[in-house]
Amino acid sequence: MCSLPVPQEPLRQVAVTRGTHGNEMCGVHLVRHWLQAPGELQRPSFSAMPVLANPAATAACRRYMDHDLSRTFTLPFLNSTATPDDPYEVTRARELNELLDLHNTKANTGVCLISEASHNALNLHLCHYLQLQNPGLPCRLLQYDLPGMETYSLESVSKDGICLEMGPPASGELRADLFSRMRALMASILDFIELYNQGMAFPAFEIDIYRNLGKVDFPRTADSDLDGTVHPQLQDHDFEPLSLTSSFLLFIPLISFCCIIAIATI
Ligand SMILES: [Zn+2]
Repeated sequence: MCSLPVPQEPLRQVAVTRGTHGNEMCGVHLVRHWLQAPGELQRPSFSAMPVLANPAATAACRRYMDHDLSRTFTLPFLNSTATPDDPYEVTRARELNELLDLHNTKANTGVCLISEASHNALNLHLCHYLQLQNPGLPCRLLQYDLPGMETYSLESVSKDGICLEMGPPASGELRADLFSRMRALMASILDFIELYNQGMAFPAFEIDIYRNLGKVDFPRTADSDLDGTVHPQLQDHDFEPLSLTSSFLLFIPLISFCCIIAIATI
């Protein structure tokens, strides 16, 4: 990655959203904290605003009410004429214009920044900065651009949006370790923006990035019911390369062990 250019336009306004998915509790409780103590988000060169993205789903501890808010930031939704019958999240998407989105995932992702390729330079340097600040903590960058598809997530409507995923809590679970880590990472992210605004030099570096190459569905019955799950040897090994050996198994059947589904590699 090349060195980061000195900003011609410093970042002046930062929004930290949480509760896009109402059952991801670390971000939910962090924003509740920041709303009570907003000084924790402030830095000299910019103002940061905590935002509750999906209050109705948060109150219900559900991922969403009518439509996944994190899939609602598309032009057809955002440009459509509002009606009383609109799904709750479509109405909410029109109200929001945020920058940074905090998520929990049930996958064992560790710390994962998700960014569009067009937002590459700043976010790659941010990821590298977090790696340097947190030695030993896996911090990865996933470039999430689906070929031929319009972007649809909350951070995609901002100038330099990025999504921070941390896993793996269960749905609705608040884990103290992940809560503390997310809070510390947010402080590091805001410190990075402050250094960027001050014109600090960020030299070139090398970094691994991850891309979405495709999807593999679970094994299913003729009625489309689940017929298998992730093999124990692969469970929780997110971001690790799949084995190329013929004995490697991606799925294990739920009932019978005689028809094991074979290999998938990337
Ligand atoms: Zn989420």
